[in-house]
Amino acid sequence: MEKTVRVRFAPSPTGFLHLGGARTSLFNWAYARKMGGVFILRIEDTDVARSTDESVEVILDSLRWLGLNWDEGPEVDGPYKPYYQSLRLPLYQEQIKKLLQTGKAYRCFCTAEELAERREKAMAEGKNWRYDRKCFQLSPAEVEDRLNHGASSVVRFFIPEGETSFIDMLRGDVTFNNIELDDFVLLKSDGMPTYNFACVVDDAQMKITHVIRGDDHISNTPRQVLLYKALGFPVPQYAHIPMILGKDKTRLSKRHGSPSVTYYRDKGYLPDAMVNYLARLSWASGEEEK
Ligand code: GLU
Repeated sequence: MEKTVRVRFAPSPTGFLHLGGARTSLFNWAYARKMGGVFILRIEDTDVARSTDESVEVILDSLRWLGLNWDEGPEVDGPYKPYYQSLRLPLYQEQIKKLLQTGKAYRCFCTAEELAERREKAMAEGKNWRYDRKCFQLSPAEVEDRLNHGASSVVRFFIPEGETSFIDMLRGDVTFNNIELDDFVLLKSDGMPTYNFACVVDDAQMKITHVIRGDDHISNTPRQVLLYKALGFPVPQYAHIPMILGKDKTRLSKRHGSPSVTYYRDKGYLPDAMVNYLARLSWASGEEEK
């Protein structure tokens, strides 16, 4: 039997729902509805300084106005609640422990100043900077000792050598050389997870089968694939859809006016017209127009 399709829209509540996010959301919703699947809404609010309740409200209102109803998520809940990342911190801690115990991640005590200094030095020597694994050399006893003395630390992922490939449903085979990837941070010094880490833990635990998102995330995908493997989770299928660009060929943003969903709603546009416009953008389907 085919697995039930489970897709998600995972906005960060740091502003309005913009047209790009609305289109990503629409494609996920439409795929779930076509496949008899489940459309999940997850709020990625781990950036405490920038996330606001008002933004969550605007995003929910915009989705409702467009008619993109979610089957699991805020207000409706579901089997994998909570659907706010800020309420899922113990789940990330649990996975971090696993990665630390198996040596797939390590504590790093380098300060921002130390890192900046070493980065500048590397660049002055014409070298590409990647985290130099200074703290990977620390013995378990040294790590313990620093932690006991209250030293601030982050947790970094150990990127193995080799290549990482995935199949994108729109682009086909995509391969990255792991040398291009840094030992990136999973957990920040304040205990908050980074986007790449929280996203993988949640997508795995929410049993997401297809990750459909903007192609601005394509360089995150090899990092996420490596994390799935390290955590022993099945890797989902990916579809990276092209960004909506402005006339100047840069990604559509506030600079191009105010292309938020609520802006169009308040101007009197009809939700059906918005959905029709977003659905037809960036691919060809003949002349038929609704
Ligand atoms: N919170 C991320 C964003 O808003 C989600 C990206 C993803 O779909 O993985 O860009």
